Amino acid sequence: MKRLSVKCILAMFCLGFAFPALAQFDIKKAVGGATKAVQAATVTDAQVEAYVKEYIEWMDANNPVCDDASPYAIRLKKLVEGLDDADGIPLNFKVYYVTDVNAFACADGSVRIFSSLMDIMSDEELLGVIGHEMGHVAHRDSKRAFRTALLASALKDGVASAGGKAAKLTDSQLGELGEALVNARYSQKQEKEADDFGYEFLQNAGKNPWAMALSFRKLKQMQEEAGVEKSSKLNQLFSTHPDLDTRIKRMEERATADGIAMPE
Ligand SMILES: [Zn+2]
Repeated sequence: MKRLSVKCILAMFCLGFAFPALAQFDIKKAVGGATKAVQAATVTDAQVEAYVKEYIEWMDANNPVCDDASPYAIRLKKLVEGLDDADGIPLNFKVYYVTDVNAFACADGSVRIFSSLMDIMSDEELLGVIGHEMGHVAHRDSKRAFRTALLASALKDGVASAGGKAAKLTDSQLGELGEALVNARYSQKQEKEADDFGYEFLQNAGKNPWAMALSFRKLKQMQEEAGVEKSSKLNQLFSTHPDLDTRIKRMEERATADGIAMPE
């Protein structure tokens, strides 16, 4: 199984469930001082959208995407049937055949699930991850994070000088953008709202919203198994945050209150 290049590992930004413990700190670090904050206003939505498109095309071109005949792609396709858009943003799904346990969503509605995440999660659990990711897309968290990353990277100079239209990025610029995306994490509030969105989204699509709590439980189990191995990749990606128990409880209580039975 192919491993993502270092550049691509760094490029993952939602990390399935983002890790809000450091979110505020990281965003401050990524955005920097007042000068950059002022420049944020100078990047148009159209520019951000053009860069998002360029970025996800580059990611797809530089990662092993499972073709339609792959068991992973077949499983995912079946799983996301009926999940067409998130608050009007059309969705598209692909599987990357990689060893990293991860998933992410881009502002344009592109959702990428890693095969190793699919290996360890049940269909219900995967749906929970997907529902949560959809929340970030629908709430435009992904777009805001991308904008933050764009301005935190050296690309901001190019953005400014391109005079309204997005410049074509080089590989190293896209890699740099990916690194900045790692720092542009979501806040606890955004995470909570993404959980709620995921819950309702799944329910409306005729899926069992218990998927939310079940995927968090699996995430917690993975954290515990990763244990004290601080250097393990899993622990870096799914770094412990005190919030997880609360999030599990919220989603369990909500499903219970709605009178929905937990899937087998
Ligand atoms: Zn998240």
